[in-house]
Amino acid sequence: MDLRQFDQKLREAPPARYSDEVWARLCCEQAFLSMKEGNYAVGAVLVSESDELLSYGRNTVFGHGYNSSRHAEMEVIDRMERDFSDMSRSGMTLYVSLEPCLMCFGRILLAGIGQVRYLTEDSVGGFTRGIHMLPPVWSELCHRTRFEPARVDSHWRALAKQMIDENAVAMRQKVAAAWQGK
Ligand SMILES: [Zn+2]
Repeated sequence: MDLRQFDQKLREAPPARYSDEVWARLCCEQAFLSMKEGNYAVGAVLVSESDELLSYGRNTVFGHGYNSSRHAEMEVIDRMERDFSDMSRSGMTLYVSLEPCLMCFGRILLAGIGQVRYLTEDSVGGFTRGIHMLPPVWSELCHRTRFEPARVDSHWRALAKQMIDENAVAMRQKVAAAWQGK
């Protein structure tokens, strides 16, 4: 894996044309850091209703051994619940480089985040395609949160996808090894 190509792509980004691109850059920078640290390349940012940064984070499942809960979305929601517990959550927007998985989808609903915008779809693991399968209470909760692709230049979509694809196989092998206690 040549990490320099991703560093280069971060530098070569076009000037921001859409407001989401400011947050897309931060998500991708966080995803790049995750990848460098040996984790899934996913970054996330949580923004207030007035477009102020509340928290940011990245995937750290292999930060200390293997912790399956340490997805980027969980990190930013943990920080928000710790530091901004007095703020209404319905106006918050969670930006994430990859469409949320089943676990994070549930956490986002329970946390009461109003909007989620992802840079690239996860055609094999993203849960926005599973909304119709939710049990009634979760389906009801789901009406409170809007999930949609971020409004960004294709540069950011492509970069988010290239990063997650780059080490996907290696990460699956690391998880399988951790399951076996290795
Ligand atoms: Zn997740």
